[in-house]
Parts: sequence; C-alpha cells; structure tokens
Amino acid sequence: MPDFKYVLVGGGMTGHAAAQGIRSADASGSIALVGEEPVPPYARPPLTKGLWAGKEEGAIWLPEVKGVSLLTGVRVVAIDRARRRVALEGGETLGYERLLLATGGTPRRLPFGGDGVVYYRTVAGFRRVHALPVGKHVAVVGGGFIGSELAASLATAGYRVTLVFPEDGICARLLPRDLALHLNGYYAERDVEVRAVEQVTGISAHGSGFTVATSRAELRADLVVAGLGIVPNDALAAGAGLAVDDGIVVDETLRTSDPDVFAAGDVARFWSPALGQRIRVEHEDNANRMGWAAGRAMAGAETAYRHLPFFYSDLFDLGYEAVGVLDARLEVVADWAEPFRRGVVYYLAEGRVLGVLTWGVFGAMDAARALIAEPGPHAAATLRGRIPA
Ligand code: NAD
Repeated sequence: MPDFKYVLVGGGMTGHAAAQGIRSADASGSIALVGEEPVPPYARPPLTKGLWAGKEEGAIWLPEVKGVSLLTGVRVVAIDRARRRVALEGGETLGYERLLLATGGTPRRLPFGGDGVVYYRTVAGFRRVHALPVGKHVAVVGGGFIGSELAASLATAGYRVTLVFPEDGICARLLPRDLALHLNGYYAERDVEVRAVEQVTGISAHGSGFTVATSRAELRADLVVAGLGIVPNDALAAGAGLAVDDGIVVDETLRTSDPDVFAAGDVARFWSPALGQRIRVEHEDNANRMGWAAGRAMAGAETAYRHLPFFYSDLFDLGYEAVGVLDARLEVVADWAEPFRRGVVYYLAEGRVLGVLTWGVFGAMDAARALIAEPGPHAAATLRGRIPA
C-alpha cells in the first residue's frame, strides 16, 4: 500500500468533510479515506427522513473529493504512532503524516434477537427495512432520535408501526415531560401503536417474522428495528495510548494527545467554551463542521473549533431545531405561542441557559447560541419572549 500525507479513518460524513477541509487548504497532498462500510460516504439524515418520503437512494451519496483514494469495506485495526502507520485488517499497513480518527459509534445492542434485529444506523440497515413491503408490521424499539423519526416516517410511508420504549414519553430524555406525553397521543392518532414504559425482555425469530416479549405483553412483527443509542468507537485510539474519556479527547485544534493525530465527529470529545464543559455531539452539523475544521487543521490552516452544533428533527408534520445541552432533567422553561405546536424551550442550570429547543420555529439558532453565551443569571420570567415563538 502506498503511503499518504493524510489518512482519514472513517468513511462517514465527518471523514468526507475532513477531506473537503484538507482540499480547501492543500490542493495536492495525498489523502486516503478508509471506511469499513462497503459504500462511499453518504448523508445519514435521509435514512430516517427523506428516503421514506420519496427521495431516491441515489440522492444520499456525497460528492467525490478530488484526488482522494477511497478504501471502502476496509477496517483499520491498529495505529503504530511511533512508525506513523495504521494496520488494516488483513495485514497491510498505510503510512501517514497526519491521521484523523472519525470512527463514529457502534449501535448498542439488545442481549437477544441476534442479527435478526436491525440496529439502524447505516444505508445497509435502511435497505433491509426498505425491502419489507409497505403495509407490513415493524416493531421499532427505542424512543430516542432514531425511534421517533423512523416510527413517524414508516407510518407515513404506509407501514404498521409499534413503537416500544422504556421511558414514559417519546424523546422523554430530551423534551419537557408534557410535550413527550403529548407526542405519545400524537403518534397514536397517526396509527402508531405507542407502547411506553415497556422493556423488551426477549426477541425470537420464527418462520416469517419475530415475536417480541416485553415487560407487559408479547407482540408479533415482520421486522424489529432498534435505535438504542451508540457507543463511541474509541478503542482504536485507546489501544494506541491516546487519551479517551467516553470518546477521544481533543483540544480546540482537534488534536488528540498526539499532535499528528486528530479526531472529529461523533467519537470526539471537545471543549465547548460556550458551555464550559467537554462535550461529545452525535449530530450532522457537528460531523460536517468539525470534520471540515479538522481537515483544515491537518493541512496547517488551523483555527479553534468553537462551534456549538445544532440539530433538528422531523416528526410527522412537527419539527424542531435545537442547540446546546438538551436534557429533560435540567430546569426546563417552556414558552408556547401555541401549545405543542409553536414554542421555545429553555434548559437551565444555576441561572445559565445550557440549551434551547425551538419547536415549530426555525432559523433562531444564532439567537439561541447568543443566549447560551450570556453569563446570566437567567430565570423563567426573564426568558419568556427572549426568542420569539
Ligand atoms: P438516542 O440516545 O436518541 O435514544 C436511545 C433510546 O433507546 C432511549 O431513549 C430509549 O428509549 C432506548 N433504549 C435504551 N436502552 C434500551 C433498552 N435496553 N431497551 C429498549 N429501549 C432502550 O439514540 P438513537 O435514537 O439510537 O440514535 C443514535 C444516534 O443517532 C444518536 O447519536 C443520535 O444523535 C443520532 N441521530 C440523530 C438524529 C438527529 O439529529 N435528528 C436522528 C437520528 C439519529
């Protein structure tokens, strides 16, 4: 294998954005992008959204970056930092001057059900679900980002959907309790069977489908799809002696504890000056912005990564944008113009705003970031109306 100036480990959105970032600062340095999926980089958000609303699979592939050697279906198994080489599964090695770890995360699995369960994260997972004829019954396990989006998308596309999750409301870890409970009813009105406060206790495959045992009752489905969160893929970094702490620790130039090794995206834990804490963010905006910034830093055009990433979701005809820390356990101040349709939710701790959710309100993320940057102190009475709903 030839050596490269830049080796990017991880063929997802972050790795792709990094290749673009490098090219914006270095027109000719050789780049290898190594990904374990057997396909080129693609946009992930359509997997739970647009691909179920008529968008063609062909629309997800990201543009080719000039002069990038793309190695798909290839796993990096070790890093030799002293020799500046990565080892590929199968024995070959690749030399680097600068290395990026954009290895993302692995879906959490249930202790039963084996490979019959689709742990939804990749285009391969999308294809498995999409192969099921419309009208069939899908059990969606998990009431977080994937569960909430996929259940809504599948129901809209004409599948029978049962959504099973342990919390009492949809996206309950994120949303104010009354909103999460309202969503249960909203989904039910749109023909999703909502089974909240229910643990999955077993999954068995039979002839044409699956039986899912839960803490309450059994259900039968043609397919089981799960979104139970991810675990950051930081073992490669840890094995190479880099600092990890539920993710790979990077400084503001996105360097790991080795100045020639960078990390970005879902796997990277970085300092957020706005929040005054190290965070790890598993969303598209962070993948793109942090990947780009890491690529530029690798090519010598470094700037501090101080971006506070936003995220968004579409749930039937409802939608929201959000930035910062959204944790329903914080002090939550909801300011509704129209209850559960249009409003702004503020998440506070000790008088500081840590997160803002704009529900049915779009384009207010810069105003939200400015509010998070304010030292405060803030309180419910002064926050209402700060961001117009
Ligand atoms: P999540 O953390 O949003 O939700 C996990 C959910 O899994 C929990 O809320 C809970 O309902 C459920 N759960 C956990 N353990 C369980 C168990 N033993 N049995 C049953 N249910 C259990 O994670 P996700 O939905 O899997 O999403 C994965 C990743 O994809 C996240 O990083 C997320 O940020 C990202 N993603 C983002 C978006 C977006 O930004 N709009 C959309 C889809 C996915």
